[in-house]
Amino acid sequence: MNTAAELAVNGGEPVRTAPFPRWPQSGDDEAKAVAAVLESGQWGSTHGDVVRTFEREFAGYQEAAHGVAVCNGTLGLTAALRALGVGLGDEVIMPAYTFIGSATSALMIGAVPVFADIDPATHLLDPKAVEAAITERTAAVMPVHLAGQPCDMDALTDISERHGIAIVEDAAQAHGAEWRGRRVGALGDAGMFSFQTSKNMTAGEGGALVTNSPEIAERLYAQANVGRIPGGAWYQHEHVGFNLRMTEFQGAILREQLRRHPEQARLRHTNAAQLAGLITEIDGITIPAEDERVTAHGRNLFMFRVPGLGGGENKRAFVRAVAAEGVPLSGGYVGLHRNAAVNAEIGVITERLGQPRPTPELPMTEQVIAEAMWLSPQTLLGARRDIEDIAAALEKVLAHTDLQTNAN
Ligand SMILES: *Cc1c(COP(=O)(O)O)cnc(C)c1O
Repeated sequence: MNTAAELAVNGGEPVRTAPFPRWPQSGDDEAKAVAAVLESGQWGSTHGDVVRTFEREFAGYQEAAHGVAVCNGTLGLTAALRALGVGLGDEVIMPAYTFIGSATSALMIGAVPVFADIDPATHLLDPKAVEAAITERTAAVMPVHLAGQPCDMDALTDISERHGIAIVEDAAQAHGAEWRGRRVGALGDAGMFSFQTSKNMTAGEGGALVTNSPEIAERLYAQANVGRIPGGAWYQHEHVGFNLRMTEFQGAILREQLRRHPEQARLRHTNAAQLAGLITEIDGITIPAEDERVTAHGRNLFMFRVPGLGGGENKRAFVRAVAAEGVPLSGGYVGLHRNAAVNAEIGVITERLGQPRPTPELPMTEQVIAEAMWLSPQTLLGARRDIEDIAAALEKVLAHTDLQTNAN
């Protein structure tokens, strides 16, 4: 057993100093594709055909009938909600343990995010909590396939059918993920993928919406193309919509990134399985349970939990100590229900409309906020040695962490 002085954060030797693989990855293919767009003079998707081609390819990859590229995932979610008729005063049920874009997508159109609790075993939206949060104002539920792990889409589809509410999948982190052998995104009414820098497929920024419904596809297109409809005239605006178009440069990069994705996904999967194996040997760290109906995990983030860590400064100290050992990790989300700006906005909307303000009860979310964290995405693109270093760093730091004894 090492002593506390041996921790790198206290001046000891770090477990590793070598960098993890860099992200994003690119090569000649991306350079040529971008140069071709530059030379063509058709830099926007209203005139070129690169983005249109990418939309078809990406929708095909996610086993969806239709795809609409957008400039980012956050506004993509807003567009999806609008396309499904969600608007002023409507409630959208979602987890609080997610990126702020999930909630702002609703707030930006005057809709109210209603935070439902998560399942502590999976860290994903709990269908029972969703059902309990439904009111006559509920218009949609937004499952977030956190870390790339699909939510229980069977239970959520059942709830959506029984209550007549739409499903918008926040699949920002879930490229290639599968629920019962079917890729996520179009399992609900519409789904969003992000191509922001930290995601497993990226052009720096960007997003894609997918759906299996031709009617919804037309409305998604309209929301991203100033209300135009596919095949319509230039000044024919059938809807009120945003301009969320992606440039042809982004489309060109993403077509190449899409080609790289299957092999990267295999590597991430192999490394994640190996790390999961090593972590099960470490007393005091747990990893999220995977439903057996998850047939492919998107593996954007590798999440784990230290039961009894207690959150706050204890957790910050743990994250600092692991980072000092040379393993990049994040303390994870702090909870949207605690965000003052989100709460103020919910207050403005509900007060103006004279609606009750949702009062979330999120004990499981609180526990996960206190105990969960994740490894930076590129850590899963390394070799076996990198994975062993990660486990060694976690074990080393854990040996000097005081845990609360009544932890589960
Ligand atoms: C990244 C992310 C978003 C937002 O995507 P952007 O493209 O960054 O706007 C939304 N939800 C989740 C869960 C995300 O991880």
